[in-house]
Amino acid sequence: MIDETGNAVASAVSKNLEVDGLDAKYSRETVLSVRRWSDSLFSFVMTRPAHFRFTAGQFARIGLEVTGSAPIVRAYSVVSSPFAETLEFFSIVVPDGAFTSRLKDLKVGDHLLLERIPYGYLTLARYQEPVPQDLWLLATGTGLAPFLSILQDFAVWQNYQHIVLAYSVRTIEELAYVHEINALAATFAEDGGATFQFIPIVTRDSSFALHERLPVLIQSGLLEQSAGIQLDVARSHVMLCGNPQMVDDTRSALKARGLIMNRRGVGNIAVENYW
Ligand code: NAP
Repeated sequence: MIDETGNAVASAVSKNLEVDGLDAKYSRETVLSVRRWSDSLFSFVMTRPAHFRFTAGQFARIGLEVTGSAPIVRAYSVVSSPFAETLEFFSIVVPDGAFTSRLKDLKVGDHLLLERIPYGYLTLARYQEPVPQDLWLLATGTGLAPFLSILQDFAVWQNYQHIVLAYSVRTIEELAYVHEINALAATFAEDGGATFQFIPIVTRDSSFALHERLPVLIQSGLLEQSAGIQLDVARSHVMLCGNPQMVDDTRSALKARGLIMNRRGVGNIAVENYW
């Protein structure tokens, strides 16, 4: 799509954005692939412009153009590594949602707007004290996305001794990226690097090994038992991303264990609500 007519398309595109007054804020990118995990979950990959630099854990603002009015824009954490040549995102279809009900029909060759700068502070750079030892990444649903980016950085595997990824979904069909997660340790863990524990949780299937919500698993000690390490105010960096109620409830459960919110570099808990 890009190779045959790439240059011509690119100049036509920037001209259109200029006419629309959008070019200062957005670039227009091309969808390269779409992967559907279930009726309501999909991922897409699009071109990455050279100017778009981000830190693992940050989000982009993606826009759909609407004839005659301002684009509809939503925030999406980047799944890809900051070193990747393309940008991948993980999305849920929100029933009757203005954005995702249109986005769900996305196909290769479609165009999306990409705001020129990334956003967000769910990055490992925010942690200074305690020094990196144990990293806990706790996600629900599409809140997994920023953690996939973070886990694709060799420096993370070198800096931490233990990495735990807990990923809670409602049904087993919603467990996306499992193959990729299992491949991460094989790709990134080197001798002397971090150990890795992946803890899938399926909350609406009582036959699944772990099927209670994250705060309950923290209170009962089952999360730590599965991880093989303890939550510890002197060692743990805990990142939460996903359902806002999960973030609230899990934060409370962690605080009850003596962990504190990370502010100005100090503290254990960093959070991002996903909608
Ligand atoms: P979800 O309801 O967020 O469930 C995902 C996981 O989070 C499940 O394991 C669920 O457990 C758990 N969970 C929910 N509340 C929790 C809490 N208070 N504490 C701990 N864990 C909790 O499911 P989803 O499929 O990701 O999203 C559901 C709906 O949220 C969507 O249909 C959509 O309408 C909306 N959503 C909107 C956006 C947006 O950008 N606007 C993005 C994502 C989702 P249980 O099974 O026990 O509930």
